[in-house]
Amino acid sequence: MLICGASFAGLAVARELAGGGADVLIVDRYEIGERQTSACGIPTAWLHDTGLIDAERQRFDSLLIHTPHGERRYRLPWTFSTFDYRELCKLLWRQCDARFETAKVNGRAAPANGDGAIAVETDRGTLSAPLVVDALGWRRVLASGDGYQPPDAPLSRGLEVHPDGSGEDLEIWIDRRYVPAGYGWSFPAGDELRIGVGSFDPRFHVRATTELLAEDLGSERVRYQGNWIPHKLRRATEGGVFFAGDSAGHCLPLTAEGIRTALYFGSALGRELCEVHAGRQDRAQAAANYAGFNDSHEWKFRWMLRAQRLVPRIPPRLLGPLIRLLGSKRFVDWSFGHYLRIAPPPGSAHEQERAGDQQRDAERPIEADRRLLEAEKA
Ligand SMILES: Cc1cc2nc3c(=O)[nH]c(=O)nc-3n(C[C@H](O)[C@H](O)[C@H](O)COP(=O)(O)OP(=O)(O)OC[C@H]3O[C@@H](n4cnc5c(N)ncnc54)[C@H](O)[C@@H]3O)c2cc1C
Repeated sequence: MLICGASFAGLAVARELAGGGADVLIVDRYEIGERQTSACGIPTAWLHDTGLIDAERQRFDSLLIHTPHGERRYRLPWTFSTFDYRELCKLLWRQCDARFETAKVNGRAAPANGDGAIAVETDRGTLSAPLVVDALGWRRVLASGDGYQPPDAPLSRGLEVHPDGSGEDLEIWIDRRYVPAGYGWSFPAGDELRIGVGSFDPRFHVRATTELLAEDLGSERVRYQGNWIPHKLRRATEGGVFFAGDSAGHCLPLTAEGIRTALYFGSALGRELCEVHAGRQDRAQAAANYAGFNDSHEWKFRWMLRAQRLVPRIPPRLLGPLIRLLGSKRFVDWSFGHYLRIAPPPGSAHEQERAGDQQRDAERPIEADRRLLEAEKA
């Protein structure tokens, strides 16, 4: 089995396969944990339930939202944590029993023979395996047809700086001074701050305003980290290859939260591949199951994308009052509870309810769409 990409999604797939005797090779252009790919914020329960809590750097029970016309602190119904990327990858890797090689993946290669194996071209030669996972991020390197490029693709862009410093609050800014459609953030992580700006519009360049936000916060502009961030769900399988994480558009629109979803979908894919290895299903059945699982979440991603499109259309003077209005405990508990359930922590009652949820999910989109359309009209 070949897993391309050794970050959240790829390691989550490999972790699920550990102990089953499968021969798994993971490749990445960098060493595991070498290059941080995000601000590393995640619901704390995900760290607990996956045995990764030792990577935690700071925990928050509220979210401070700033707008030009006022701010509001939301008391969260669950806590959110920042973590150390290198440490988390190390812990994930410890849970795997795969082999690892550094290699840059260039794309699909012509299969060598007719045994159904999939060939992948890398800078270290061609690799071939019957089961191949693309966990390489938004570029979706192993897709054959539907590759897309910024700025025309459904991609947001994000950039952050990582100055030394500390803070008490998880903060976001909805302020057109920083970005017309999107938000700025400051995520403290022990002795480091992660200050950045994300734009839903890929044409808006975020470097100048990331620097402006850091300057406004009196922080240094050092250690840049940025990337494109998908905001649309994509096909989970294509041409025999399985996709997980950003390569499948698993990052949530509106919040650009893509770590827990990469772990969530990566684990689901890993479970399907375990079944193939055990001889209880073939690749085509695993593909059908995983695609079905992926697609059952489509309406939630669509709903989030609509909300993402709605926020920039709210007149700035209404933002302050609206943020205050939506900050009632009842609404925050309700909305953040639903939000967490899009990819619930594995040990939670929510996850155990997932099977039942999926059945109900099939019936919910129409109601959710109706509510959102009403909100849009209002
Ligand atoms: C500035 C910024 C801040 C963010 N903050 C958060 C946050 O706080 N919380 C959150 O949940 N999400 C956040 N995100 C989104 C999050 O980073 C992604 O959704 C998440 O990293 C997706 O995980 P992944 O494993 O699919 O891909 P990635 O983490 O992008 O990993 C892809 C892996 O593939 C490797 N790779 C890529 N191309 C090749 C190639 N050709 N050959 C070999 N290897 C290759 C890379 O080296 C990397 O290891 C942020 C994104 C950005 C840009």
